[in-house]
Amino acid sequence: MTGFLVVSAAVYGVVIGSFLNVVILRVPEKVSIVKPPSACPGCGNRISTRDNLPIVSWLLLRGRCRNCAMHISARYPVVEALTGALFVLVALRFGWSWTLPAEIIFVSGLVALAFTDLDRMLLPKVIIYPTGGLVLAALVAAAAVQGSWHRLAIAAGCGAAEFVLLFTIHFISPRSLGFGDVRFGPIIALALGWIGWRYAFVGFLAANLVGSVIGVILMATGKAGRKTLVPFGVFLAIGAVLAIAFGGLVHYPT
Ligand SMILES: [Zn+2]
Repeated sequence: MTGFLVVSAAVYGVVIGSFLNVVILRVPEKVSIVKPPSACPGCGNRISTRDNLPIVSWLLLRGRCRNCAMHISARYPVVEALTGALFVLVALRFGWSWTLPAEIIFVSGLVALAFTDLDRMLLPKVIIYPTGGLVLAALVAAAAVQGSWHRLAIAAGCGAAEFVLLFTIHFISPRSLGFGDVRFGPIIALALGWIGWRYAFVGFLAANLVGSVIGVILMATGKAGRKTLVPFGVFLAIGAVLAIAFGGLVHYPT
């Protein structure tokens, strides 16, 4: 049963990852994610279905357009593989459970938002709100089926606490933390808080730790200065994934 779940998660993951590539590319440009169909930016040729298979097509074509041989970024198969890996992670972590749909939606949103933030320092509302709304709806459904309203209340409490914290930081120093992060953080705390409030805590701590380490490395290598803006959403997303993967292994003081 686990084998079937893992294989399904991997397949769905790379397919959703392929869709997320379109979202990451088009949403910041305010272009429809449905129309027009994908085309090569070099020759304008429409990409056929057989050349649009996640990961496989890129490998078979060795990262080039079939028509004009223009280089196709390795980012596309990387996003697909990453999404597949995250789907497998949550499938292994939560199994067939009412929690699974919420966390699947959650990690999909994480990938889309981490990459728009990395590319353009943007956490678009049109990605944040649907992600938050769908995660919340899935958690409400899970709470209703299981009668676990207490758990939902804890998750909502984590979301509210992170909102207050990030809003305060943003209020004191808008340059160090954009309002996109103030919207994004509470969704992460909600999805992690459902697993347990400690996970929300570990996720936030891990985000700051990873952010600090990378910040120090960038400054030490001269790639960033004190005033360089950092896409904090990327670190929030990394922290969330670390919490899901390893949050249960941390020993908490009692
Ligand atoms: Zn082409």
